[in-house]
Amino acid sequence: MATIADAGLTFTTSAHPAPTSAQTRSDVLANPGFGTNFTDHMVTIEWTEGRGWHDAVIGPRQPIALDPAASVLHYAQEIFEGLKAYKQADGAIALFRPEANAARFNLSAQRLAMPELPEALFVEAIERLVALDRDWIPEGEGSSLYLRPFMIATEAFLGVRPAKQYKFIVIASPAGNYFKSGAPAVSIWVSDYTRAAPGGTGAAKCGGNYAASLVPQAEAIARGHDQVVFLDAAEHKWIEELGGMNLYFVFEDGTLLTPALTGTILPGITRDSLLALAREEGLNVEEGRYSLDQWREDAASGKLVETFACGTAAVVTPVGRVAGRDGEFTIGTGGPGQLTGKLKSRLVAIQRGEAPDSHGWIRKIG
Ligand SMILES: *Cc1c(COP(=O)(O)O)cnc(C)c1O
Repeated sequence: MATIADAGLTFTTSAHPAPTSAQTRSDVLANPGFGTNFTDHMVTIEWTEGRGWHDAVIGPRQPIALDPAASVLHYAQEIFEGLKAYKQADGAIALFRPEANAARFNLSAQRLAMPELPEALFVEAIERLVALDRDWIPEGEGSSLYLRPFMIATEAFLGVRPAKQYKFIVIASPAGNYFKSGAPAVSIWVSDYTRAAPGGTGAAKCGGNYAASLVPQAEAIARGHDQVVFLDAAEHKWIEELGGMNLYFVFEDGTLLTPALTGTILPGITRDSLLALAREEGLNVEEGRYSLDQWREDAASGKLVETFACGTAAVVTPVGRVAGRDGEFTIGTGGPGQLTGKLKSRLVAIQRGEAPDSHGWIRKIG
């Protein structure tokens, strides 16, 4: 069954002349880690003003030649996505909601003054790469092939305006279980830095946001925490998200709350999927505002029983402890919460093909 979309651009395929040996590949797949090992191939598609998208190629993964004046190197005109291909229970290969990544990629492109990529072409590029490098998908709980589509401005020009040339690339990296033995609860540091301001690029998935989050993240680590949580830029009061994951709060009465998408929060696809699953469970789910003060107070009174972070890489991560300038507090027992575990299992079961996909989230390849 050929399910690869035909987006109307012809792909040139050239197989790697000296692919990784089966032995080396199986060594990598036995212990893939995250983001350090890569498959043999990559996709590149070029965009030129006046011509649009052209030269779609799947070829050997290799370094890219860039003029030192390429705009991306100076003004950070770059956007990216992150999604996973899973080996399912029945041996099929499946992507989880790639159309949602395609749509978000184009929203990011709009904000960074970059050309949009037809959604079908985005999905086709990913499907073709996964099909060609299918032997690189690790099996087993929590393992997947992590896909990283991204776009860079390649025009050699130092003036400040949108570039007239871009390159869209997809690379793939086998990923193991993010946390070796289940998901331990993490400790998070409330940063004095802000991640995103109203009118800024907080809702776009761009490298620049991450560059700005490295110092806050390093500070959290230096203070003995795992992750950083950012508050809003205007009042430094409302909880927004972690550096790369959205947040959910679970209350004693079963209510689930996640910060509303105000333009300064990245609209996570995991966040959106959990909203749908929680509503199906009959839970009362709200998108709204929640302050750090209220979080502390509710954790102390027992009104708040769980907090978790969510994103493609680690799926769902319980938050056990929160610390900031005004001291620290523990959430629930400080360990993984019950609803957190239940929602994670439900989502993972759908991704793995172990539970019915009633939302049409799964896209099988080949
Ligand atoms: C990618 C990302 C997320 C999570 O999005 P998912 O689609 O669930 O992976 C959350 N916050 C930020 C800042 C991100 O870049």
